[in-house]
Amino acid sequence: GPAPEADTEARAWLARHNGDFGHFIGGAFVKSASAKSFDTFEPATGKVLAKLAIGDQSDVDAAVAAARKAQGAWSKLPGHARARYLYALARTIQKHGRLIAVVEAIDNGKPIRETRDIDVPLAARHFYHHAGWAQLQESEFADHAPVGVVGQIIPWNFPFLMLAWKVAPALALGNTVVLKPAEFTSLTALLFAELAAAAGLPPGVLNVVTGEGETGALIVDHGDIDKIAFTGSTEVGRIIRERTAGSGKSLTLELGGKSPFIVFDDADIDGAVEGVVDAIWFNQGQVCCAGSRLLVHEGIAPLFHKRLKRRMQNLRVGLPLDKAIDMGAIVAPVQLSRIEKLVNQGVSEGAVLHQAKIDLPKGGSFYPPTLLSGVQPTFIVATEEIFGPVVVSMTFRTPEEAIQLANHTRYGLAASVWSETIGLALNVAAKLQAGVVWVNATNLFDAGVGFGGKKESGFGREGGKEGAYEYLKPKAWAGRKPRAAI
Ligand code: NAD
Repeated sequence: GPAPEADTEARAWLARHNGDFGHFIGGAFVKSASAKSFDTFEPATGKVLAKLAIGDQSDVDAAVAAARKAQGAWSKLPGHARARYLYALARTIQKHGRLIAVVEAIDNGKPIRETRDIDVPLAARHFYHHAGWAQLQESEFADHAPVGVVGQIIPWNFPFLMLAWKVAPALALGNTVVLKPAEFTSLTALLFAELAAAAGLPPGVLNVVTGEGETGALIVDHGDIDKIAFTGSTEVGRIIRERTAGSGKSLTLELGGKSPFIVFDDADIDGAVEGVVDAIWFNQGQVCCAGSRLLVHEGIAPLFHKRLKRRMQNLRVGLPLDKAIDMGAIVAPVQLSRIEKLVNQGVSEGAVLHQAKIDLPKGGSFYPPTLLSGVQPTFIVATEEIFGPVVVSMTFRTPEEAIQLANHTRYGLAASVWSETIGLALNVAAKLQAGVVWVNATNLFDAGVGFGGKKESGFGREGGKEGAYEYLKPKAWAGRKPRAAI
């Protein structure tokens, strides 16, 4: 079980702030002008964790003004000088990695093993990687200028990692930021802003305004913001695209997915079963690129389902700070009800329900690993993103049918192909409409590789050189040689 003292440092940090946070603007915590607040809950227990401020127009104005004020000097720093700040931020994440991992696990409900071994190290890696681009700014990005002041709005499924994906490239390339974390999970953003200031980041370079969708909309509509970078639902992405159209703001959108996980009859079955575990039960399935549509060759489907069910039964669902668990809590009761509703809908459409018979902790928002088999491509559960630990399974006979089923979706974020015939796997991979395709693997990420979607999964890339360009504006120069004076 979780060590009782495991979260002492995190509780002390919350206590230091009296569990009551303002916004982080101009290098310090400030009280919200609105005096309006909301409670943030611990998903595993349902208990109140802290009080968060709701940013209103004057809070957003203050944050944008602080970012604007800082932007000139920040963008004029030589690349190597900005790189030093990014290295310092990366090191501060590593130094305080344990605290960040614990706060993230408590606030989001995900297993400490994941925050400690995945979210926090990948976030540090993003800052190191982008320190490199800052360092190379003059040589690699000549004739490019920073975009300016960037509004960044992020979701609750990877609160700290999504912060890193957004903040690291923006700062590296000379922009300043107003960030709004998701309302369910704002704590690691507030913690990071505090740690960044302590590490010497100049005031105003990174500002955090908390609140719900309305606060996000104030950022989207703000007249002195040059770019919006958004990760979240396709629904909200569509609203943001409409609202920024014609405003002169740049925009990148990282949205939802319903990614296919294709298993051919010559696949390494045990490897593919482990792949499914990672694809859909990692982070309780609350993953934008989750392999949520399992497409199995008809010939191996009965065997594959049998092995998968046996494996599901061995997964451990428990409290986030317990190092032995595989799955933690669902982020909020509203998400839990959404998952339950969609699964019931799938059953009424004719899907066969299989759930692991395991004990779930009482009091919080928990859901067991779930498989819906016998699903048809027209079922709502085959097209809607469930965003929970639920995989839907369909069968195919030929590679052509697999490709057709895989691409039969409005999304196009990721795909995973399993076959021991590399020619087959690569041919199929080439025909899949997805921003990233994994072969005999899933959920592989690297700060050096641009991540992003096709179709309704959005546009723009995060990571790599292509991600750096999202925070720069090119400037072309042309003319002729001056005539020699006579
Ligand atoms: P959401 O769209 O409801 O919220 C995302 C953020 O937008 C939150 O901070 C929210 O407060 C804010 N927001 C809500 N309404 C807004 C508005 N009108 N204007 C401006 N901001 C607004 O999404 P969510 O439920 O937090 O996250 C889940 C979704 O995110 C899933 O669909 C998932 O697939 C997607 N996601 C995508 C990626 C990716 O990289 N493509 C990564 C993680 C999550």
